[in-house]
Amino acid sequence: MLKPEDFKELYRVFHSAPTAFDCGKKCAPFNDGEPFCCDTGWVVPIAFPEEWEYLQKQSCLWHEFRPRNSDEFDLVEEIDADESVFVECRGPRYCERENRSISCRTFPFEPYLDTKGNFLGIIYNRVIEDKCYLVDRHSVVTKEFVKMFMRFFENFFVFLPSERELYMEQSRIYRNQMSRRKKPVVVLTLKGPFEAAYRGGKLLAQWTKPDPPENSYCPDV
Ligand code: SF4
Ligand code: SF4
Repeated sequence: MLKPEDFKELYRVFHSAPTAFDCGKKCAPFNDGEPFCCDTGWVVPIAFPEEWEYLQKQSCLWHEFRPRNSDEFDLVEEIDADESVFVECRGPRYCERENRSISCRTFPFEPYLDTKGNFLGIIYNRVIEDKCYLVDRHSVVTKEFVKMFMRFFENFFVFLPSERELYMEQSRIYRNQMSRRKKPVVVLTLKGPFEAAYRGGKLLAQWTKPDPPENSYCPDV
């Protein structure tokens, strides 16, 4: 069972940034100087209740998210308060790396599992796929990050088995969405990116196509 104090160690072992460069410098110029994922107008970070308890003791960086419009009120109403809390930080200028939430550390990535429950790698959270520079740029993600991410979730699924179930379902939905969009399911693994099957989700073959060209990144805001 997860306890607030567990987050000290969980955070300690998950510190690596996804890329060797600061990806915020790529996207922030398109959002008044603020990375999209650090702006609650685009993405609202979520914390586990135990994590929220831990963070409140550690720092003044965070407060509970205060919805500002009907969409945001709907968003807050949708989540189960016993399982998650929407939170907001004071902004990138005040960011404390050691007190970033799990959702900050993982964005824009999620664990990928096949239908048998095998944890095979990492896929993208595509909630702001046209804004986030990293989405579908498989080659820029460091091996160190993939390793850390995988190790972190292996451990986390032991603490919270319900998260394994949740991501199994998320991966299934992801495969269906990509299938409908006729886009490949690319999974980042310790052996590099692989394409996965729409049905069943197993890894098929190494993904060797190049990333999107640099000049294709042009978020429409
Ligand atoms: S993860 Fe995506 S949205 Fe966040 S700073 Fe990097 S490029 Fe920008
Ligand atoms: S804590 Fe840091 S990384 Fe997380 S949303 Fe705030 S500024 Fe961004």
